Amino acid sequence: MRIVIKVGTSTLAHPGGLLNIKRVEQLCKVISDLKNSGHDIVLVSSGAIGMGVGKLRLKEKPADITAKQAAAAVGQCELMYTYDKLFSEYSHTVAQILITGADFENKERYTNFVNTINKLLEFSALPVINENDTVATEEIKVGDNDTISAMVAVSVNADLLILLSDIDGLFTADPHVDPNASLISVVSEIDDKIISLAGGRFSSLGTGGMITKLKAAQICTSSGCDMVIANGKNPDNLYGITEGKSIGTRFIKKQVD
Ligand code: GLU
Repeated sequence: MRIVIKVGTSTLAHPGGLLNIKRVEQLCKVISDLKNSGHDIVLVSSGAIGMGVGKLRLKEKPADITAKQAAAAVGQCELMYTYDKLFSEYSHTVAQILITGADFENKERYTNFVNTINKLLEFSALPVINENDTVATEEIKVGDNDTISAMVAVSVNADLLILLSDIDGLFTADPHVDPNASLISVVSEIDDKIISLAGGRFSSLGTGGMITKLKAAQICTSSGCDMVIANGKNPDNLYGITEGKSIGTRFIKKQVD
């Protein structure tokens, strides 16, 4: 299978922004194993801003764009250094790709982007994608990696997109406030009722929320790719998800001709 895995900042870092070493080590180990078993994997990784905040010892994620961009410049290095080191332990080679929304709109740049990912997969390397936050101004940015990962999944004809987040999946109500909220394991149609369940919860370091995840599901499923939202706190779940087990919430692809 060709699988795009997106990891959110909340999965990679502790609340203060410093690396969650145990989690990231597990994640790199499982992804390496999935690659060894024959899957093509593309990783879309957030965490640049969050880890920059941690490394610069800022008290919180800054509100102003320039400080966020500076934090991203620091954190992106840290992120790739960590991936390079950990994936190397399992003999896998990482490749960094930074993009903006404008790159998806420019035909030539988009073609280069897709060709490069395909070539990297042919070379058995692991593309690690993030938004180029340092140059991504309001007008040209996509803004969240949920949407970017769906656009990537469609670009490379992925079979499956897995969004690892700090929540188990889509619930019938906000599980942080409603004890009766239950997990929805399969969504075969993203209708108004499903969209109304998105709520508005944001983690302190990350960017997206359930809304951006549903937007990602719409992009994916309408292009013939399944999408799963699952909790990133247990990276071993990636095994079950790729085997089609019921973990998190699975959005079923629409039949495309
Ligand atoms: N590109 C941002 C970062 O690396 C994350 C965006 C997101 O969390 O969706 O910090």
